[in-house]
Amino acid sequence: ARVIFSGIQPTGVPHLGNYLGALRQWVTLQDAAAPDETLLYAIVDLHAITLKQDPAQLRQWRREMLASLLAVGLDPKRSIIFCQSDVPQHAELMWILSCNASMGYLSRMTQWKSKLSLPATASPLDLAPPRSPSAPSLPSLKLGLFSYPVLQAADILLYRTTHVPVGEDQSQHLEFAREVANSFNHIFSPTTPLLIPPETILSPAKRIMSLTKPTKKMSKSDPDIKSRILITDSKDVISKKLKSSLTDSLDGISYNHSTRPGVSNLIDIMYYLDESIASSPVQLCADFQNMSLKALKEKVAEAVDTQIRDVRERYESVMGGDAGALADVGDEGARKAEERAKETIGRVRKVLGFTWD
Ligand code: ATP
Ligand code: MG
Repeated sequence: ARVIFSGIQPTGVPHLGNYLGALRQWVTLQDAAAPDETLLYAIVDLHAITLKQDPAQLRQWRREMLASLLAVGLDPKRSIIFCQSDVPQHAELMWILSCNASMGYLSRMTQWKSKLSLPATASPLDLAPPRSPSAPSLPSLKLGLFSYPVLQAADILLYRTTHVPVGEDQSQHLEFAREVANSFNHIFSPTTPLLIPPETILSPAKRIMSLTKPTKKMSKSDPDIKSRILITDSKDVISKKLKSSLTDSLDGISYNHSTRPGVSNLIDIMYYLDESIASSPVQLCADFQNMSLKALKEKVAEAVDTQIRDVRERYESVMGGDAGALADVGDEGARKAEERAKETIGRVRKVLGFTWD
């Protein structure tokens, strides 16, 4: 039977990119799941500390993320919803896998570089001075940020996951996780694969772009709050952020991500919020071709508000409710996750020789 696992960092309230690229898909998979399928959704706080975090802020963000997951429609009766740091086996498996992970492969991963504003071509063995004044030099690169794809592989492999629903920015890490699983099996469990190489599930809205820099993906950790629409934003805030979004000065509406990234992103947002309004983003554009950019932004704002209104209201009611009840959901999720994690770790320990018999 399928085992579905995915995670989200508690680095702020989720935005439209998280929602369209991941969370909405998580809920669809949950609602369509056969009784023998297992779904695990983790708030990956061990990943969040790869960049500096304030503990009080992180505590608040964990709560806000759990409330967000419930607000989008995840149901703790059907999905195991938990915080990664509550299940110690993630860190244990990471250590074991890291003993066989190659620095060369990790250095080709692009994401740790983008978090440091380094070009994708930079290598950790390249000790040149920082490219931008805010980027640390490579010798000060933290081990955790460099190696977090190994933790991510551990997160997935720990549950013998078969499918991982993520946005496009995670494809490279999933490829790495498959490689890690195969090489572990090859060395320690050649006859029966102990770890399962997982399949990636990409949602159609696999990459929603920033409203202010539409050539970059929308991100929770972007310091500019106007770059993203939160799933908790009011109608008024949604329309202000869209009004100030970066487009261009061309006439009419057309769809081309390289020449009109801002406009094309707005079309994507509108289309993927409700795919029944047209047969494709291109078709939606054709329907709108003579519209002004101002009118397009107003239409998109309207659509965003309509689609996320329920999520916002549920979020407010969860956050306004009993804090103890929220903690109980997290504790119960961690208990169920750990039960499964222990099973895999037990087998891993055995094949490594970590036993007395
Ligand atoms: P951070 O800036 O802290 O990394 P983030 O916005 O990138 O935050 P993550 O917690 O790293 O969010 O990722 C959670 C999920 O959301 C992942 O599956 C990721 O692929 C997906 N995702 C993130 N940003 C986008 C986006 N702009 N479009 C589509 N999917 C996205
Ligand atoms: Mg991210």
